[in-house]
Amino acid sequence: MKYTYQPVIGLEIHVQLATATKIFCSCSTDYIGAEPNTNVCPVCLGLPGALPVLNGKAVELGIKAAMALSCTVKDKTVFHRKNYFYPDLPKAYQISQYDLPLAEGGELFISGDGDTLKRIRITRLHLEEDAGKLVHSAADGRLEGAEFSFVDYNRGGVPLAEIVSEPDLRSPGEAREYVTSLRRLVRYLGVSDGDMERGSMRVDANISLQKTDSATGEILYWGERSEIKNMNSLRAIERALEYEIRRQIGVMEAGGALERETRHWNDGEGTTTSMRSKEAAHDYRYFPDPDLPPIEASPSLLEKVRSSLPEMPWVREMRFRNEYLLPEADAALLAETMPLAEYFESCVRSGASPARVSNWVRTEVLRVLNERSISIDAFPMRPQELGSLVRLVDEQKLSTTAARETFNAMIEKGLSLEKALDASGGVGGKLSGDALADTVRAVLASAPDVVAEILGSKDEKGKKKKFLIGLVMKEARGQADAAVVGELIEKMLNAKP
Ligand code: ADP
Ligand code: MG
Ligand code: ZN
Repeated sequence: MKYTYQPVIGLEIHVQLATATKIFCSCSTDYIGAEPNTNVCPVCLGLPGALPVLNGKAVELGIKAAMALSCTVKDKTVFHRKNYFYPDLPKAYQISQYDLPLAEGGELFISGDGDTLKRIRITRLHLEEDAGKLVHSAADGRLEGAEFSFVDYNRGGVPLAEIVSEPDLRSPGEAREYVTSLRRLVRYLGVSDGDMERGSMRVDANISLQKTDSATGEILYWGERSEIKNMNSLRAIERALEYEIRRQIGVMEAGGALERETRHWNDGEGTTTSMRSKEAAHDYRYFPDPDLPPIEASPSLLEKVRSSLPEMPWVREMRFRNEYLLPEADAALLAETMPLAEYFESCVRSGASPARVSNWVRTEVLRVLNERSISIDAFPMRPQELGSLVRLVDEQKLSTTAARETFNAMIEKGLSLEKALDASGGVGGKLSGDALADTVRAVLASAPDVVAEILGSKDEKGKKKKFLIGLVMKEARGQADAAVVGELIEKMLNAKP
C-alpha cells in the first residue's frame, strides 16, 4: 500500500507585551543590555511578604491582541500559580493562567492555495510573567577550571501573552507563515515589538505525523507529538520542523515508537535533541493565586480597546490589492508594517498613481532605509513630497530619470521638492531634457502609422511632422519649445532603422 506522512503542527507563542513596567510590579521591562539584577524589586524577586499588583496596561494589550484574533474575551478570568523549581524562577512558581484564560477561541489567517486564505484556529490567549535568565559561563578567574551559572532577574516578571494555536498547520512553510502573520499583527497593534532575535516573540512548535493512505486519505497511524523549543528565527522554525519530520519518519519507518517529549533545537548543528519527556499539567500543581483577585474586563474597558483597534493588516493588504490593483506580493510588502502602509497611502492620497507610488516606495524608499539602517519614521522625505514628485511623473512633466535625480537631491542634500526641482532645471517652466524626450518618444509610439508615413517619404510638405509636434505640445500642455520638439522628432525618426 502506498502511504504518505502528513505533518500536523500547532504552535505556542510567547509574545512580550510592550508595557513600560512589569506585570506585577513597577520595575522597568527594559532589560536588554541592562546591568544584571538592576530592574528588580521584592515582588519580582519573590521575597517573602511582597504582594503582586496587576499592571492594567498588560491586560489591555492582551485584550487588544485577543480581539484582533477574534477571540472571545472572558469577563472574569483568574491567575494560577504554576509550580516548578528552577533557579530562574525565584518564587518557585510562575504566575500564569490555567483553566480560565483571558481569551479563547479565535482565528488567524495565512495565505492558502492560490488566492484563498487558510484559517488557523486559536485555542487561547493567556497572560503570564516571564522568568529570569540563566547565564552559563566558563571560569571567570575565581576558581580554576570551574564553570559558573549566573542568574539575572531583570526579565523576571516581564508580561507575556501566550497564544496557543489549534493543530491546524500542515507544513513547516505554513508554520512560518503563521508566525509571520502573528508578528505583523502584534506590531500593527503596538502590542509587542515582535522581535524574535531579542526574544520578544518565542515560538514552541508541536509536531506529529499522520501516516496516511495515499489512495483513500485514511489515517493509518498517528504518531506521538514532540514539542520543539529554542527557535529564535523564522528560518530556525522551518529548519527545526523539517528536521523533526525527517526524524519522526525515520523512527516510524524503523518500526520504533515515538515518545511524547520536549526537544531542543540546536541551530548550529541543525538537529533537535531530547530534553525531557513531557510533563503533565498535574506535575505543576496549578492552583489559583490567592494574592491576585480575578481579572474583570468591564464592558467599558472592552469598548475602549475595541475602538482602538486599527484596520487589520490582512484587511489592509486585501484593500491594497483591490483598491489600488497592486500585485499580491507588492501589497503584502507595503502592508507589512503600519508606518510603511501609512506612508504609502499618504503618498497615494496626495494624488499620485498607486502603481507608481508602490514602485517608488518599494525600490527607492526601501533602498534608502536599508542603506541608512533607519525605519520609515526617520525617512527624511514627507509622503506629500514624494506624492507630488511622483505626480509630476504621472503627468509627464518629469521623466523618471529626472525624478530619480530630484529624489536623490532631496534625500542627500535635504532639499525641499521645489528647491530640488529648481536645482535640476525645474518643471515649472518648459519641459526639456529627458522629460521632453520621454514625451516625444511616447507620442511617436502612440502614432505608428503617422511615423510610418513620414519614414516612407509621404510627408513632402512636413504636415505630418507638424501634426506630431502638435501632439507633443498638447501632451506638454504647451510647455515646450516647438522647434526643439521638431529637432527631437527628426533625430528619433532618423535613428530608426
Ligand atoms: P500541552 O498541555 O502539552 O501544552 P496542549 O493541548 O495545550 O498541550 O497543546 C499544545 C499545543 O500542541 C497546541 O498548539 C496544539 O495545537 C498542539 N497539538 C495538540 N495536539 C497535537 C498533535 N497531535 N500534533 C501536533 N500538535 C498538536
Ligand atoms: Mg502548553
Ligand atoms: Zn519588580
